[in-house]
Amino acid sequence: MCTRMRALLCVKAQPLLSRGFIHPVRPSTAVRWQAAPSKLFCSSPPDGNNTPPSMLRHLTSKIKATGPIPVAEYMREVLTNPVKGYYVRNNMLGPEGDFITSPEISQIFGELIGVWIISEWMGAGQPKQLQLVELGPGKGSLASDVLRVFSQLQSVLGGASVSLHLVEVSPALSLLQAQNLTGNRSQEADAEDDPVYRRGETDAGLPVSWYHRLDDVPAGFSVFVAHEFFDALPIHKFQRTEKGWREVLVDIDPEKPDTLRFVVAPAPTLASTSLVQADETRDHVEVSAEGGVLVQQLARRIIEDGGAALIIDYGHNGTKTDTFRGFKGHQLHDVLASPGSADLTADVDFNYLRRMAGGGVACLGPVTQRTFLKNMGIDTRMQVLLRNCSDPSTRKQLISSYNMLTNPAKMGERFHFFSLLHPSRLAKPQKPEGLKLEKKKSPAPLPVAGFTELKFA
Ligand code: SAH
Repeated sequence: MCTRMRALLCVKAQPLLSRGFIHPVRPSTAVRWQAAPSKLFCSSPPDGNNTPPSMLRHLTSKIKATGPIPVAEYMREVLTNPVKGYYVRNNMLGPEGDFITSPEISQIFGELIGVWIISEWMGAGQPKQLQLVELGPGKGSLASDVLRVFSQLQSVLGGASVSLHLVEVSPALSLLQAQNLTGNRSQEADAEDDPVYRRGETDAGLPVSWYHRLDDVPAGFSVFVAHEFFDALPIHKFQRTEKGWREVLVDIDPEKPDTLRFVVAPAPTLASTSLVQADETRDHVEVSAEGGVLVQQLARRIIEDGGAALIIDYGHNGTKTDTFRGFKGHQLHDVLASPGSADLTADVDFNYLRRMAGGGVACLGPVTQRTFLKNMGIDTRMQVLLRNCSDPSTRKQLISSYNMLTNPAKMGERFHFFSLLHPSRLAKPQKPEGLKLEKKKSPAPLPVAGFTELKFA
């Protein structure tokens, strides 16, 4: 029975994958940029200081009024302050921006995630409704690649009613997403209290809605995708001292009034007493309480409405210490220098996310990006694209972007895929009542694509 169920997945997954591969998707644009450095491979010192002074002024007056602020508050202000925040004002993605991400490097990345989503929708019994919810969609490239796979596999999706829901804090980026996904078929909400601040429709007529917060996305069977989103969420930093755990704060340097510096809180703070684990063995830890709350919300939604979440980011399993860093113009940048002009990021602690997800959902991974993409059939997809592409420079770009995504020394082993699933997804199917199958083993659950190697034998 066990092998039969595995074979069943193969039967289902093989046509799903190969149909996506039969028609090469715009091979000439399968690579968006020539592989440019991502956030992981930049090591030069920061360049000149051309910060808009207002963010620094805003922070120094805040610190003067209330005292040193937690790193989480610093990060939140710098990145998402509604007026001056880095994400709110900038388009930071791509060769002219500050960093580049996998969906921007190659459309194959988003296509394979599209196949994963359909495979999980099938694993959940093909519900009538499918909400694709993306957290922090950047330029909208990943969603656009996923939707193209959906339209190619329309016959598989059948009559399911598909909608796209984007959680995006940045008005500038939401406009860019709207252009990429809907052309000019989107408009801002009329009412200020409408949780949907923009709505539109794709070429294929799928509804698209924009929200500031995950809480505002309607309930329903959903697949959530967060690519390089959790690393942008504020972190608290804590330092072990002789007197116990203390929070690291941001203060004004008394000797240089326009310069910020880190200080260690003289006494415990609410965060240091509640966020550091009692059995912590490291001397320095970073905790994203906001990331923890979001994962709890995702878990609750998946338990109540069904669905899955795919979190893709660089990170670790609760082993790293000081990973807070800045990026500007594809270079490492001092996190406290010219705040608001550079991206701030910290590695995601998947161990913490798993703990916060609780026991009600099933957690898979993290597995490396290389493993996930290979399990999803990136090699077969590359072969098809290369077979259909005779232009030497496009072929070179295809190979270079494949290498960027999968090479262990590049993004292949630094990025990880982590998933939350409804517990029924991994549960053994019930034996039909009344049948005398006692002597046979219960069937195994269908493997989850990407996290398990799919065999097409
Ligand atoms: N997923 C995209 C973009 C990554 S950059 C890619 O991989 O290319 C981070 C994205 O998250 C941006 O779109 C940014 O505006 C958004 N973002 C950052 N913090 C956010 C928050 N607190 N709430 C909603 N969106 C946020």
